[in-house]
Amino acid sequence: MTSKNDKILLINPWIYDFAAYDFWIKPLGLLSIGGVLANYGYEIELIDCLDRFHMVYGEKYSRHQLNKKNGTGKFRRQPVDKPVFLANIPRTYARYGMPIDLFRTLIDSIAIPDVILVTSAMSYWYLGPFKAIELLKEKFPGVPVILGGIYATLFPEHAREYSGADFVIEGAGERKALTKVAELTGRSIDMSSFPIQWARLPLPDFQHYPNLASVALMTSKGCPYNCSFCASRAISGDFEQRPAEHIIEQIDSYARSRHVTHFAFFDDALLIDADNHLLPILEAVRDRQLKVQFHTPNGIHAKEITAEIARLMHATDFKTIRLSYESSDKGRQREMSYKVTDESLAVALDHLETAGYNRKDIDVYVIMGLPDQDIAEVVRSMLFVTSLGAKVRLTSFSPIPGTRDWERSIIQCGFPADADPILTNNSIFPLHLFDGKQHNFQQIRYLSKVLNYSLDQNINLFDHSDLANLIKKILLTKFNA
Ligand code: SF4
Repeated sequence: MTSKNDKILLINPWIYDFAAYDFWIKPLGLLSIGGVLANYGYEIELIDCLDRFHMVYGEKYSRHQLNKKNGTGKFRRQPVDKPVFLANIPRTYARYGMPIDLFRTLIDSIAIPDVILVTSAMSYWYLGPFKAIELLKEKFPGVPVILGGIYATLFPEHAREYSGADFVIEGAGERKALTKVAELTGRSIDMSSFPIQWARLPLPDFQHYPNLASVALMTSKGCPYNCSFCASRAISGDFEQRPAEHIIEQIDSYARSRHVTHFAFFDDALLIDADNHLLPILEAVRDRQLKVQFHTPNGIHAKEITAEIARLMHATDFKTIRLSYESSDKGRQREMSYKVTDESLAVALDHLETAGYNRKDIDVYVIMGLPDQDIAEVVRSMLFVTSLGAKVRLTSFSPIPGTRDWERSIIQCGFPADADPILTNNSIFPLHLFDGKQHNFQQIRYLSKVLNYSLDQNINLFDHSDLANLIKKILLTKFNA
């Protein structure tokens, strides 16, 4: 039975970091929990501090000036004091998202909620949820606050001790949040019909966004692989896929009724069992002639890209394509259970080019800063990607509890097992804070820009001209690769 007091406030807090950019980001877990609670009769209010199109911006802050290519764009940025752990990093630290005065305006304008749910994303962004909880406790003293999300899952003890939340939920939140909210609102809920499988839960609900510029899709959770550095298993558990027809209806509905153009897939393993999953989704998009564009900000598995998948991706307007590669090192590829090899990456790019893509419009992820990785491995990997005509997209290692590379970071590199989560920020190269190698990583970043620029200028560093040979020799000598 619903009572008039059953109001739940959902909060997606700010990002605190040296840099942040909105690549179609949405709090999918929180929106999924919102959908579940709404199904049980709760009244849901959402404040998404990262919604660049929130109505509260009004005329004071022009909303749309921040919209950039393909629905991405810059968050508003407010420089803040650096946490003590980052005092030696010579960069400006900032809060990204909705200005605090607008957040206060919003919480001043709503009825007192019965329960507040705050989510958390990257562990090293925890100052965002902390700030939200501080302001919410000030405004709504006595209202219970539940904290969940990735940080709360990976660092639950830290979250319990320091966040200010009354309750911390670890792992998949839908069932746990419903149970806790029911307890706090004094309701007895029949859980017998609650889906056991994640794939059968309601889809994340975007109805709370009056200005919806893009939709984030998660058609599956987890990943069948178990790479040494990846948090997928620790965060998402076993791999599951939603029924393709649910995703088709979701895309159709937002494309037609909300006129959304940009859809970003946030799956860790979008292409697994594509014949029964992604292909029927894309065939439906094509056959229904939906005017949409797709983006894959997470790397997709190159090995799974067949000629047919590449053709359908092109036919259904995949605009942003990023492929997972990580490294050309054979030992590392073996440790990643051969999710990709040099050959499978080359074949994937061939298929995409045949389908109509320009290779230089495709980004390939290369990872740097792993515990047992030298600079030469990174440079060799970058040169291989460039030799295939694709752009290098560097990503930096972040030590994540529950992964094999977390253990290695502690044992081989002396990373403190009890390090503050803020020190897992990948942009500060956590394993190399004190060994003087930071400079090398910065140089590698510049090198990736040079390599990518050469593709844009149609300079082939890998043909057999004297110039190409000279440049290669200099690069390989410089980085001892
Ligand atoms: S394949 Fe990708 S998502 Fe899967 S475990 Fe490896 S890095 Fe993570």
